[in-house]
Amino acid sequence: MIGRSGSRTLAPMAADPTDLPTPDDVRAAASRIAGTAHRTPVLTSRLTDSEIGASVLVKPENLQRTGSFKFRGAFHTLSRLSAEQRRAGVVAFSSGNHAQAVALAASVLDIPATIVMPTDAPAGKLAATQGYGAAVVGYDRYTEDREQIATTLSGERGMTLVPPFDHPDVIAGQGTAALELLEDAGPLDALFVCLGGGGLLSGSLLAAQALSPGAAVYGVEPEAGDDARQSLRAGRIVRIEQPRTIADGAATTALGTRTFPILRDHVTDVLTVTDDQLVDAMRTFATRMKILVEPTGALAMAGLRVAVAADPQRFAGARVGVVVSGGNVDLDRFTALVGG
Ligand SMILES: *Cc1c(COP(=O)(O)O)cnc(C)c1O
Repeated sequence: MIGRSGSRTLAPMAADPTDLPTPDDVRAAASRIAGTAHRTPVLTSRLTDSEIGASVLVKPENLQRTGSFKFRGAFHTLSRLSAEQRRAGVVAFSSGNHAQAVALAASVLDIPATIVMPTDAPAGKLAATQGYGAAVVGYDRYTEDREQIATTLSGERGMTLVPPFDHPDVIAGQGTAALELLEDAGPLDALFVCLGGGGLLSGSLLAAQALSPGAAVYGVEPEAGDDARQSLRAGRIVRIEQPRTIADGAATTALGTRTFPILRDHVTDVLTVTDDQLVDAMRTFATRMKILVEPTGALAMAGLRVAVAADPQRFAGARVGVVVSGGNVDLDRFTALVGG
C-alpha cells in the first residue's frame, strides 16, 4: 500500500495563492453547516463593559458542538468531499480540538476517521475523540513530526488529510463564527480573535470584510509562541520551536501558506498575552458570564484586557467583538489553574 498512487491530500504544503478563500466562501460555508453546527449565542456582561469601557459582544464557541469552533471547519470540509473520498476515509493531526471536530464531523457524515494525537494530549480530549468512533494514533509532540505521520498514513491508506488550519474549506468554515456574530450583533468597531495557526483569524478577517469592513481585527497569540507576530514583522512565515504555554490549542510553530497572506493583507495587529493573563480571563469568564473556557479559548479576551490596560481610552464607547474559541479543559486542570 505504501506509495499508492490513489492517495490524495487536501492540503498541498506548497503555497498556491489561487486557492485562497474569499468572503463569499465564508457565506457559502455558513449555509452548508447551518442545521448541523450550533448557532452559538452572543453573550454580554455589564461589568465587563464597564471594565473595558466599551460594549463587549462575546461569541462563545465553547458552546459549539465538540466544545470548540473547530467543528465548523471540519464539518464544512468533510461535507465537500466526493463519495469516493468519503469511502476511503479521513486522517487528521491535532493536539485535541481539531481531532474531536473531525471525529464528530466524520461520524455525522458516516466517514471513517483516523486521528494522529500527541501522547500527552489532555485525557478528556483523547477520550472524546475515541468516543466519536475515530481511531487514534499517538506521537511525541516534542520529538516527532505529526504532519509527516499523518501524510504517511494518508499515502498508505488513500485517506484524505484534513489539516487543522491551512486549507480553504477549513478557513471558510471557521469564519462562520465571526459571520454569525456580525449578523447577530451588527457591525463592530473591533474584533478580537484567538490565534494559533491562523485558521480562525483568517476566516474571521473574511467575515469582517463581508459584514463589517470598517472593523479593526486583532489576533491574539501566546507570548511564548509569538510566531505570527514575528512572521508579520519579517514579512515571511517564521517557524519557531514548539512553544510551552497553557494555551495548548495555539501552541503552533508556524502560520500556514494560506493563513499567512490573509493575515498579512488584512489583520490590524497581532497581540500577545502571558499564561497568567489567560488564567485571569478564564476566571473572569467563569464568574461574570458563567462559562467554562479553556486557556486557548481565553486568548482574545485576555488580549482585549491587555490592550485596554495599556490604553484605557483605546476602545472608549466602541462595539468590540470577542471570539471565545473553546472550552475543552479537564475540570481538575481548570480548578488548578484558576484556583491558584
Ligand atoms: C485550534 C484552536 C485555536 C487556534 O485556531 P487556529 O485556527 O489554529 O488559529 C484557538 N483556540 C482553540 C480552542 C482551538 O481549538
